[in-house]
Amino acid sequence: MSHEQDRDTMTAISAETDSALDAPRAHVAAEPNAPLEKIALETYRPPAKPSLVGLSRAELAEQLGAIGVAPAQRKMRVQQLWHWIYVRGAKHFDEMTSISKSMRDDLAASFTVARPEVVAEQVSNDGTRKWLLRLPSGDKIEKAHEVECVYIPETDRGTLCVSSQVGCTLNCSFCHTGTQRLVRNLTAGEIVGQVMVARDRLNDWADRATPTGSRLVTNVVMMGMGEPLYNFEAVRDALLIVADNEGIGISRRRITLSTSGVVPNIIRTGDEIGVMLAISLHAVRDELRNELVPLNRKYPIAELLQACRDYPGSSNARRITFEYVMLKGVNDSLDDAKLLVKMLKGIPAKINLIPFNPWPGTVYQCSDWDQIEKFSEYIFNAGYSSPVRTPRGRDILAACGQLKSETEKLSVRERQALRAMAMTD
Ligand code: SAH
Ligand code: SF4
Repeated sequence: MSHEQDRDTMTAISAETDSALDAPRAHVAAEPNAPLEKIALETYRPPAKPSLVGLSRAELAEQLGAIGVAPAQRKMRVQQLWHWIYVRGAKHFDEMTSISKSMRDDLAASFTVARPEVVAEQVSNDGTRKWLLRLPSGDKIEKAHEVECVYIPETDRGTLCVSSQVGCTLNCSFCHTGTQRLVRNLTAGEIVGQVMVARDRLNDWADRATPTGSRLVTNVVMMGMGEPLYNFEAVRDALLIVADNEGIGISRRRITLSTSGVVPNIIRTGDEIGVMLAISLHAVRDELRNELVPLNRKYPIAELLQACRDYPGSSNARRITFEYVMLKGVNDSLDDAKLLVKMLKGIPAKINLIPFNPWPGTVYQCSDWDQIEKFSEYIFNAGYSSPVRTPRGRDILAACGQLKSETEKLSVRERQALRAMAMTD
């Protein structure tokens, strides 16, 4: 996209964000000693009949062993199941016609191929879709948990924004998810399940007429709810399944994982998953980043950038994206832009400016339009593309906002959608 086009896009955003803002307020610093992490993680209770979705080939073979499939047969059965689940998108064992009837009955007696339950679907005029998914809740919690998954179609791709946790372990001061009290890590099955739900709803599985699928979901971004690197194993196992070219087959270059900077797991991401990396930077000085992203107190900027320099596989063709939320009077000065350019020197980087999406009770405001433009222009002139994205799916976001009784919850969803939309370049 050319810089001119970027600027057009930014004008469109300006009009939208202005209307979302209250009267100007001075920036009030967030609680300086806010805890870094939430300690209470709910435990996951598997259903009586577990789903095979999200198991690795080795785990599938083990489950087959548990229902009496002979060792010599397991590899072949795993291949069949893998094809039916991840290429054909089968929802029931009955559909798996290349597997004998008695074997299908045995499988159905002990397992399912269930994915998260879709409780609401909204379709925007521009094709953006949001699915609200219901997940089982854990200890002593009566209400089921919900996460959202957003699909953003563009001319040359379709991006799915996927969640890794219910709520988030961390407490970034500008992020509504961070204020949620409850946290549960999603299982690998629930993460892969979001991609499967999207393929189900978009009719995007392979069949006789479209043997490789119609390929509506071409890209995946781990930018929904949660900090993916605080749920590393499940996210890794899920993304390896999403990237597996005998199954869903979305290449690693088309999968982006966004992290607020869990340094030890950044290198593991490169080594064990090999997907594209996005870093939620948002500030160029430790003092401010400690406030915006309290995890910075554990892993300060210098360590974070070193992990980026060391990120396996990064190159000019595989740049690291640095996300930067534009907060009025907080991180949006030209000095910030200058320091940003200086500190990213030597790292193959893209910078993605995200207009702040306000939520009830936040102390922050979105930067003024002309300031976003100046900031963007500075980094563009320094050689970085600096897109600011037009929010998509305005009509369905508006509809969300009208449901006042659920303001807080909807506002979280709305923000997820906006963030996803800001990140689809
Ligand atoms: N936890 C991960 C991934 C999910 S958040 C992370 O922090 O990177 C995806 C992106 O949306 C992050 O860059 C996050 O900082 C940004 N974000 C969070 N709240 C926002 C808001 N209110 N307005 C704009 N962007 C926001
Ligand atoms: Fe969690 Fe990311 Fe929100 Fe921070 S910005 S609270 S890491 S979801």
